[in-house]
Amino acid sequence: MLNTLRKIVQEVNSAKDLKTALGIIVLRVKEAMGSQVCSVYLLDPDTNRFVLMATEGLNKRSIGKVSMAPNEGLVGLVGTREEPLNLENAADHPRYRYFAETGEERFASFLGAPIIHHRRVVGVLVIQQKERRQFDEGEEAFLVTMSAQLAGVIAHAEATGSIRGLGRQGKGIQEARFVGVPGSPGAAVGRAVVMLPPADLEVVPDKTVEDIDNELNLFNNALEGVREDMRKLSAKLAAQLRPEERALFDVYLMMLEDAALGGEVIEVIKTGQWAQGALRQVVGEHVSRFELMDDDYLRERASDVKDLGRRLLAYLQEARSQSLVYQDNTILVSEELTPAMLGEVPEGKLVGLVSVLGSGNSHVAILARAMGIPTVMGLVDLPYSKVDGIELIVDGYKGEVYTNPGEVLRKQYGDVVEEERQLAQGLDALRELPCITPDGHRMPLWVNTGLLADVARAQQRGAEGVGLYRTEVPFMINQRFPSEKEQLAIYREQLQAFHPRPVTMRSLDIGGDKSLSYFPIKEENPFLGWRGIRVTLDHPEIFLVQARAMLKASEGLNNLRILLPMISGIHELEEALHLIHRAWGEVRDEGTDVPMPPVGVMVEIPAAVYQTRELARQVDFLSVGSNDLTQYLLAVDRNNPRVADLYDYLHPAVLQALQTVVSVAHEEGKPVSICGEMAGDPAAALLLMAMGFDSLSMNATNLPKVKWMLRQVNLSKAKELLADAMSHDNPQVIHSSLQLALKNLGLARMIGPGANKTL
Ligand code: PEP
Ligand code: MG
Repeated sequence: MLNTLRKIVQEVNSAKDLKTALGIIVLRVKEAMGSQVCSVYLLDPDTNRFVLMATEGLNKRSIGKVSMAPNEGLVGLVGTREEPLNLENAADHPRYRYFAETGEERFASFLGAPIIHHRRVVGVLVIQQKERRQFDEGEEAFLVTMSAQLAGVIAHAEATGSIRGLGRQGKGIQEARFVGVPGSPGAAVGRAVVMLPPADLEVVPDKTVEDIDNELNLFNNALEGVREDMRKLSAKLAAQLRPEERALFDVYLMMLEDAALGGEVIEVIKTGQWAQGALRQVVGEHVSRFELMDDDYLRERASDVKDLGRRLLAYLQEARSQSLVYQDNTILVSEELTPAMLGEVPEGKLVGLVSVLGSGNSHVAILARAMGIPTVMGLVDLPYSKVDGIELIVDGYKGEVYTNPGEVLRKQYGDVVEEERQLAQGLDALRELPCITPDGHRMPLWVNTGLLADVARAQQRGAEGVGLYRTEVPFMINQRFPSEKEQLAIYREQLQAFHPRPVTMRSLDIGGDKSLSYFPIKEENPFLGWRGIRVTLDHPEIFLVQARAMLKASEGLNNLRILLPMISGIHELEEALHLIHRAWGEVRDEGTDVPMPPVGVMVEIPAAVYQTRELARQVDFLSVGSNDLTQYLLAVDRNNPRVADLYDYLHPAVLQALQTVVSVAHEEGKPVSICGEMAGDPAAALLLMAMGFDSLSMNATNLPKVKWMLRQVNLSKAKELLADAMSHDNPQVIHSSLQLALKNLGLARMIGPGANKTL
């Protein structure tokens, strides 16, 4: 059964549109189950009716014509109950409704299963049989499994159609809406540029080109490149492989011939498709043909073809890499956006970001917030490889994207963009004013930085220091580990820019979702794996070079503070402190005269919460990383869009942990700040101030909003809000009572569009 399922899903996946996909589904399911009828009904959201979209066995002329409301017929019943229905004689059921045009009166038994995608019923899959009989348990299980598998495929095929401007029935429609999660607030209207990870054939978009000869040239050069590589590889392995094993390379070479794959790609390019798109298409066809074969050996050949495809693509992409054109109002779209990708778009051209994977807590979203770029993450249903060049609206508040927006929507969002601009101008006036509550409580607001661009933004917005400089960012946009000298130059720039204000530099925090292309870490569970301080303690050479570069960079400035990430206990802290002292001794021996900087730990692992006292005794300051602390306390992956709803820094457990850290740190006489995204949320910032945090560190974009909020609310009032929040056990109640309280204070302005996502 698994094999049959796999084959059907693969075949459906390679269908060119929804209609073809549904046609394949009904044909193959009917065959596999040996039934006389198989039909698919899809729920049309506009009319709220289940429409017959494909059938084998019923009258095909009724396709698109027969439909029923959710309270009509057996199909409506399956859809509303969200459960399969298995009937020996359908006509006996009180909900049975007869449609003369389908010819269905000939079929007695009925088995229907709902098709559900992300909790939403999208349709119903039905099989029918002439003779009266109950379908057995095995058949029912098969249909349920089939429809669960097909739900995603149908949603995807449907979305692809709507992107091309086609509705369910193939009619033109204006716009389509895709729902993800908010990544960075703001709205943007622009054109999509799809950026691909290197050599990933499956995600190459379709693109038509004028200059066919140029594409043919590119492809022929790629062919030659791969041929040459194959010959070299074969020669290199001559000593280790027997001649018959090396024959594999000859097979590869043959596949590249004109009469085989190579020739087919050339034919597709001649129709006007760019070389990369033609390659994807031809390789895809070959791969699915191989994968459908029953013979294990032949099935394995699919991976050879894929490999060849990837090799050819790598050559083609090399030729392309300089020629990507970024227009004004570029919206960068990728399966998984990376910080390096952000750096590739020329300044001033980028207005929005869309990522299929990841959530609001991914590092790329954090960077986007720092740069003030509206972003939507986790847009899992977007067939992103098809959107290159089309117009998009990015709504970073709601986490939604519209493709091909119509006039009305474009105007509406154009107005939001303009309002945003005006609001930002108003907040600029706050720059020179101190962050002080009406009852005189002073709260230092610091920034989180990573890119050099953050420095200018931070200064424009009146930051009083750097609470977190993510040193991994310059590492990530490099092609190798930066040398001590290179690091020294980068760090000095940060320290100088903010001098005499403090700059908190965190030691390299890679692993988790932050990987270096030149130091790959592959793990099943990266967030519970080799991350942060664990990596650098295992590689003291990396840690020492970094610490030395930081210390030397601070010569004559003395505004450096060093922060250690992912500390889970005293043993790690002691080792790290030992290395810092060693680096300090070394640079002083070399003649650089710097004092020992203050050193702090991040509290971002639950174990550190319970060891706050012990940790505080050994360091000069503490800084809470609420992004990771929330993730680890709630066991919710900060990047997984499926559980993004559960990720909540106003959860009572998180609030209690934060309060504990502040109280214990203060008992030990040590200052404590917070540098997670929570600090940049104006409403949450009130609670953090009331808890007693000594400073808040956030992205530069949100800093003026937080300052505006804190300047409106007395510390005593904030303490009341905190007491109220801490009295509830339900996160939803905490959200709504905080929202209501702020509304009653007339502070709704900062909790609607323009603020973070909390409320
Ligand atoms: C945090 O975890 O809250 C934090 C500030 O660090 P990062 O987001 O870089 O993991
Ligand atoms: Mg962290």
